[in-house]
Amino acid sequence: MDNGDGPKKWGFQGNAELNASSISVRGVLNRVYANLDKDDKRPTIPLGRADPTEFPSYQTTRLAPDAVANAAFSYNFNCYAPTGGIAETRRAVAEYLSKDFPYQLSPDDVYLAAGCTQAIEIVVSVLARPNANILLPRPGYPQYEARASVSNLEARHFDLIPEKGWEVDLDSIEALADENTVAMVIINPSNPCGNVFTSQHLKKIAETARKLGIFVISDEVYSHLAFGSNPFVPMGVFGSIVPVLTLGSISKRWIVPGWRLGWIVTCDPNGIFQQSGLSRIGFN
Ligand SMILES: *Cc1c(COP(=O)(O)O)cnc(C)c1O
Repeated sequence: MDNGDGPKKWGFQGNAELNASSISVRGVLNRVYANLDKDDKRPTIPLGRADPTEFPSYQTTRLAPDAVANAAFSYNFNCYAPTGGIAETRRAVAEYLSKDFPYQLSPDDVYLAAGCTQAIEIVVSVLARPNANILLPRPGYPQYEARASVSNLEARHFDLIPEKGWEVDLDSIEALADENTVAMVIINPSNPCGNVFTSQHLKKIAETARKLGIFVISDEVYSHLAFGSNPFVPMGVFGSIVPVLTLGSISKRWIVPGWRLGWIVTCDPNGIFQQSGLSRIGFN
Protein backbone atom coordinates (compact mmCIF):
# COMPACT_ATOMS: atom_id res chain seq x y z
CA MET A 1 0.00 0.00 0.00
CA ASP A 2 1.30 3.49 -0.86
CA ASN A 3 1.27 5.77 2.16
CA GLY A 4 3.33 8.38 0.33
CA ASP A 5 1.61 11.69 1.05
CA GLY A 6 0.90 11.38 4.82
CA PRO A 7 2.19 13.94 7.36
CA LYS A 8 5.87 13.85 8.34
CA LYS A 9 4.80 13.25 11.89
CA TRP A 10 1.34 12.58 13.32
CA GLY A 11 0.41 15.56 15.50
CA PHE A 12 -1.33 13.80 18.37
CA GLN A 13 -0.36 11.98 21.50
CA GLY A 14 -2.12 10.86 24.69
CA ASN A 15 -2.06 12.58 28.07
CA ALA A 16 0.73 10.74 29.91
CA GLU A 17 -0.89 11.54 33.27
CA LEU A 18 -3.68 9.18 32.33
CA ASN A 19 -1.30 6.27 31.76
CA ALA A 20 -3.38 3.35 33.01
CA SER A 21 -0.58 1.65 34.90
CA SER A 22 -0.01 4.71 37.03
CA ILE A 23 -3.58 5.74 37.80
CA SER A 24 -5.60 2.59 38.34
CA VAL A 25 -5.42 -0.09 40.98
CA ARG A 26 -5.78 -2.70 38.26
CA GLY A 27 -2.91 -1.11 36.35
CA VAL A 28 -0.62 -1.51 39.36
CA LEU A 29 -1.79 -5.10 39.79
CA ASN A 30 -1.08 -5.86 36.12
CA ARG A 31 2.41 -4.48 36.57
CA VAL A 32 2.99 -6.78 39.57
CA TYR A 33 1.76 -9.81 37.61
CA ALA A 34 3.91 -8.91 34.63
CA ASN A 35 6.95 -9.12 36.92
CA LEU A 36 6.22 -12.60 38.26
CA ASP A 37 8.89 -15.16 37.39
CA LYS A 38 7.19 -17.27 34.72
CA ASP A 39 9.44 -20.28 35.42
CA ASP A 40 8.58 -20.34 39.10
CA LYS A 41 5.75 -22.84 39.36
CA ARG A 42 4.75 -22.08 42.96
CA PRO A 43 1.08 -21.04 43.31
CA THR A 44 0.46 -17.35 43.98
CA ILE A 45 -2.01 -16.01 46.51
CA PRO A 46 -4.03 -13.19 44.88
CA LEU A 47 -3.78 -10.66 47.72
CA GLY A 48 -4.39 -7.80 45.32
CA ARG A 49 -7.54 -9.12 43.73
CA ALA A 50 -10.57 -6.96 44.30
CA ASP A 51 -13.04 -8.86 42.13
CA PRO A 52 -14.77 -11.54 44.21
CA THR A 53 -16.85 -12.83 41.28
CA GLU A 54 -13.88 -14.96 40.20
CA PHE A 55 -14.57 -17.19 43.18
CA PRO A 56 -17.68 -19.38 42.72
CA SER A 57 -18.59 -19.17 46.41
CA TYR A 58 -19.28 -15.44 46.04
CA GLN A 59 -22.50 -14.95 44.12
CA THR A 60 -25.05 -12.22 44.42
CA THR A 61 -28.63 -13.07 45.35
CA ARG A 62 -30.87 -14.37 42.57
CA LEU A 63 -33.22 -11.43 43.31
CA ALA A 64 -30.69 -9.01 41.85
CA PRO A 65 -30.41 -10.32 38.25
CA ASP A 66 -34.19 -10.97 38.29
CA ALA A 67 -34.84 -7.33 39.14
CA VAL A 68 -32.46 -6.13 36.43
CA ALA A 69 -34.03 -8.48 33.86
CA ASN A 70 -37.53 -7.28 34.78
CA ALA A 71 -36.42 -3.67 34.47
CA ALA A 72 -34.91 -4.35 31.05
CA PHE A 73 -37.96 -6.26 29.77
CA SER A 74 -40.31 -3.53 31.00
CA TYR A 75 -38.87 -1.16 28.36
CA ASN A 76 -39.43 1.62 30.91
CA PHE A 77 -35.75 2.36 31.46
CA ASN A 78 -34.35 2.70 27.95
CA CYS A 79 -34.49 6.48 28.21
CA TYR A 80 -31.71 8.95 29.01
CA ALA A 81 -31.79 9.13 32.80
CA PRO A 82 -31.84 12.52 34.56
CA THR A 83 -28.31 13.67 35.44
CA GLY A 84 -28.66 12.80 39.13
CA GLY A 85 -30.22 9.41 38.36
CA ILE A 86 -33.72 7.96 38.17
CA ALA A 87 -35.93 9.19 41.04
CA GLU A 88 -36.94 5.68 42.17
CA THR A 89 -33.31 4.60 42.47
CA ARG A 90 -32.35 7.76 44.37
CA ARG A 91 -35.24 7.16 46.77
CA ALA A 92 -34.20 3.52 47.26
CA VAL A 93 -30.61 4.53 48.11
CA ALA A 94 -31.86 7.29 50.47
CA GLU A 95 -34.11 4.84 52.31
CA TYR A 96 -31.44 2.17 52.47
CA LEU A 97 -28.81 4.49 53.98
CA SER A 98 -31.29 6.22 56.31
CA LYS A 99 -31.83 2.96 58.21
CA ASP A 100 -28.48 3.56 59.94
CA PHE A 101 -28.95 7.32 60.46
CA PRO A 102 -30.50 9.42 63.23
CA TYR A 103 -32.21 11.53 60.52
CA GLN A 104 -33.89 10.82 57.21
CA LEU A 105 -32.11 11.35 53.88
CA SER A 106 -34.13 12.70 50.98
CA PRO A 107 -33.88 11.36 47.40
CA ASP A 108 -32.46 14.82 46.57
CA ASP A 109 -29.45 13.99 48.77
CA VAL A 110 -28.54 11.14 46.41
CA TYR A 111 -26.66 11.58 43.15
CA LEU A 112 -26.09 8.38 41.15
CA ALA A 113 -22.85 7.55 39.35
CA ALA A 114 -21.34 4.77 37.27
CA GLY A 115 -19.82 3.02 40.29
CA CYS A 116 -17.90 4.56 43.15
CA THR A 117 -15.06 5.19 40.69
CA GLN A 118 -17.12 7.76 38.82
CA ALA A 119 -18.38 9.14 42.13
CA ILE A 120 -14.73 9.86 43.04
CA GLU A 121 -14.12 11.48 39.64
CA ILE A 122 -17.14 13.74 40.00
CA VAL A 123 -16.39 14.82 43.56
CA VAL A 124 -12.71 15.50 42.89
CA SER A 125 -13.42 17.53 39.74
CA VAL A 126 -16.14 19.56 41.47
CA LEU A 127 -13.71 20.44 44.28
CA ALA A 128 -10.75 21.27 42.04
CA ARG A 129 -10.94 25.05 42.01
CA PRO A 130 -7.58 26.83 41.60
CA ASN A 131 -5.25 26.49 44.63
CA ALA A 132 -7.57 24.13 46.50
CA ASN A 133 -6.16 21.10 48.29
CA ILE A 134 -7.62 17.89 49.67
CA LEU A 135 -6.40 15.66 52.51
CA LEU A 136 -6.02 11.97 51.63
CA PRO A 137 -5.23 8.96 53.83
CA ARG A 138 -1.91 7.13 53.62
CA PRO A 139 -2.12 4.20 52.98
CA GLY A 140 -5.17 4.81 50.80
CA TYR A 141 -6.90 4.09 47.55
CA PRO A 142 -4.89 5.40 44.57
CA GLN A 143 -7.91 6.50 42.55
CA TYR A 144 -8.09 9.65 44.70
CA GLU A 145 -4.50 10.66 43.92
CA ALA A 146 -5.02 9.85 40.25
CA ARG A 147 -8.13 12.00 39.88
CA ALA A 148 -6.64 14.81 41.94
CA SER A 149 -3.57 14.85 39.70
CA VAL A 150 -5.64 14.93 36.50
CA SER A 151 -7.83 17.73 37.92
CA ASN A 152 -4.89 19.77 39.29
CA LEU A 153 -6.22 19.45 42.82
CA GLU A 154 -3.34 19.36 45.30
CA ALA A 155 -3.31 16.16 47.39
CA ARG A 156 -1.86 16.29 50.93
CA HIS A 157 -1.45 13.10 52.91
CA PHE A 158 -2.18 12.32 56.53
CA ASP A 159 -1.06 9.06 58.10
CA LEU A 160 -3.13 6.20 59.42
CA ILE A 161 -1.43 4.89 62.55
CA PRO A 162 -0.82 1.11 62.51
CA GLU A 163 -0.25 0.94 66.30
CA LYS A 164 -3.69 2.44 66.82
CA GLY A 165 -5.55 0.07 64.50
CA TRP A 166 -5.01 2.39 61.52
CA GLU A 167 -6.81 5.34 63.09
CA VAL A 168 -6.41 8.76 61.51
CA ASP A 169 -3.52 10.87 62.86
CA LEU A 170 -5.75 13.79 63.84
CA ASP A 171 -2.84 16.04 64.84
CA SER A 172 -1.39 15.76 61.34
CA ILE A 173 -4.77 16.78 59.88
CA GLU A 174 -4.59 20.02 61.83
CA ALA A 175 -1.00 20.57 60.73
CA LEU A 176 -1.76 19.94 57.03
CA ALA A 177 -4.95 21.93 56.61
CA ASP A 178 -4.94 25.58 55.59
CA GLU A 179 -7.49 28.06 54.24
CA ASN A 180 -7.41 26.31 50.82
CA THR A 181 -8.24 22.86 52.19
CA VAL A 182 -11.69 21.79 51.08
CA ALA A 183 -12.16 18.30 52.45
CA MET A 184 -10.59 15.19 53.93
CA VAL A 185 -11.18 11.65 52.70
CA ILE A 186 -11.65 8.61 54.89
CA ILE A 187 -12.16 5.05 53.64
CA ASN A 188 -14.21 3.04 56.12
CA PRO A 189 -14.08 0.03 56.27
CA SER A 190 -10.55 0.64 55.08
CA ASN A 191 -9.07 -0.37 51.79
CA PRO A 192 -6.23 -1.37 52.00
CA CYS A 193 -5.92 -1.76 55.80
CA GLY A 194 -9.13 -3.71 56.47
CA ASN A 195 -9.87 -1.96 59.79
CA VAL A 196 -13.21 -0.43 60.78
CA PHE A 197 -13.25 2.91 62.62
CA THR A 198 -15.00 3.02 65.98
CA SER A 199 -17.91 5.39 66.43
CA GLN A 200 -15.82 7.40 68.94
CA HIS A 201 -13.02 7.87 66.40
CA LEU A 202 -15.47 8.92 63.67
CA LYS A 203 -16.86 11.52 66.05
CA LYS A 204 -13.36 12.86 66.70
CA ILE A 205 -12.75 13.05 62.93
CA ALA A 206 -16.02 15.00 62.59
CA GLU A 207 -15.03 17.41 65.36
CA THR A 208 -11.55 17.95 63.88
CA ALA A 209 -12.97 18.65 60.41
CA ARG A 210 -15.56 21.00 61.89
CA LYS A 211 -12.88 22.95 63.73
CA LEU A 212 -10.96 23.35 60.45
CA GLY A 213 -14.05 24.27 58.42
CA ILE A 214 -13.62 21.38 55.98
CA PHE A 215 -16.04 18.59 55.20
CA VAL A 216 -15.56 14.81 55.20
CA ILE A 217 -15.76 12.54 52.17
CA SER A 218 -16.44 9.05 53.46
CA ASP A 219 -15.79 6.23 51.01
CA GLU A 220 -18.03 3.45 52.32
CA VAL A 221 -17.85 1.13 49.36
CA TYR A 222 -17.12 -1.71 51.84
CA SER A 223 -19.90 -0.72 54.23
CA HIS A 224 -21.21 -3.65 56.25
CA LEU A 225 -18.33 -5.86 55.09
CA ALA A 226 -16.65 -5.42 58.46
CA PHE A 227 -13.89 -7.66 59.80
CA GLY A 228 -12.89 -7.62 63.47
CA SER A 229 -14.95 -6.52 66.44
CA ASN A 230 -15.83 -2.92 65.52
CA PRO A 231 -19.30 -2.69 63.97
CA PHE A 232 -19.53 -0.53 60.85
CA VAL A 233 -20.91 2.95 61.61
CA PRO A 234 -21.52 5.29 58.67
CA MET A 235 -19.86 8.72 58.86
CA GLY A 236 -23.19 10.34 57.95
CA VAL A 237 -24.32 9.62 61.53
CA PHE A 238 -22.16 12.64 62.45
CA GLY A 239 -23.56 14.82 59.66
CA SER A 240 -24.89 17.34 62.18
CA ILE A 241 -21.33 17.96 63.46
CA VAL A 242 -19.76 18.25 59.99
CA PRO A 243 -21.22 17.93 56.49
CA VAL A 244 -20.40 14.53 55.00
CA LEU A 245 -20.36 13.32 51.41
CA THR A 246 -20.84 9.57 51.50
CA LEU A 247 -19.60 7.60 48.51
CA GLY A 248 -20.74 4.04 47.93
CA SER A 249 -21.77 1.47 45.37
CA ILE A 250 -23.29 -1.95 44.93
CA SER A 251 -20.01 -3.44 43.63
CA LYS A 252 -18.63 -4.90 46.82
CA ARG A 253 -21.53 -5.68 49.11
CA TRP A 254 -23.67 -7.19 46.38
CA ILE A 255 -20.75 -8.78 44.51
CA VAL A 256 -21.61 -7.17 41.16
CA PRO A 257 -18.63 -4.91 40.33
CA GLY A 258 -19.50 -5.11 36.64
CA TRP A 259 -22.90 -3.46 37.09
CA ARG A 260 -21.44 0.02 37.68
CA LEU A 261 -23.90 1.63 40.06
CA GLY A 262 -22.63 3.97 42.73
CA TRP A 263 -23.69 7.08 44.61
CA ILE A 264 -22.67 10.39 46.12
CA VAL A 265 -24.86 11.29 49.09
CA THR A 266 -25.00 14.59 50.97
CA CYS A 267 -25.37 13.73 54.67
CA ASP A 268 -25.91 17.22 55.93
CA PRO A 269 -29.02 17.77 58.05
CA ASN A 270 -27.98 21.42 58.70
CA GLY A 271 -27.89 22.27 54.98
CA ILE A 272 -24.28 23.57 54.99
CA PHE A 273 -23.61 22.31 51.45
CA GLN A 274 -26.61 24.29 50.24
CA GLN A 275 -25.30 27.48 51.86
CA SER A 276 -21.80 26.95 50.48
CA GLY A 277 -23.10 26.65 46.92
CA LEU A 278 -21.69 23.12 46.47
CA SER A 279 -25.10 21.75 45.67
CA ARG A 280 -25.47 24.23 42.79
CA ILE A 281 -22.28 23.17 41.01
CA GLY A 282 -22.92 19.51 40.72
CA PHE A 283 -24.76 17.85 43.54
CA ASN A 284 -28.52 18.04 42.79
C1 LIG B 1 -13.55 -0.78 44.79
C2 LIG B 1 -13.40 0.56 45.38
C3 LIG B 1 -13.94 1.70 44.75
C4 LIG B 1 -14.59 1.64 43.40
O1 LIG B 1 -15.78 0.94 43.44
P1 LIG B 1 -16.68 0.73 42.15
O2 LIG B 1 -18.07 0.93 42.60
O3 LIG B 1 -16.45 -0.68 41.69
O4 LIG B 1 -16.28 1.73 41.11
C5 LIG B 1 -13.83 2.93 45.40
N1 LIG B 1 -13.21 3.05 46.58
C6 LIG B 1 -12.64 1.99 47.20
C7 LIG B 1 -11.97 2.19 48.52
C8 LIG B 1 -12.72 0.71 46.62
O5 LIG B 1 -12.14 -0.33 47.23
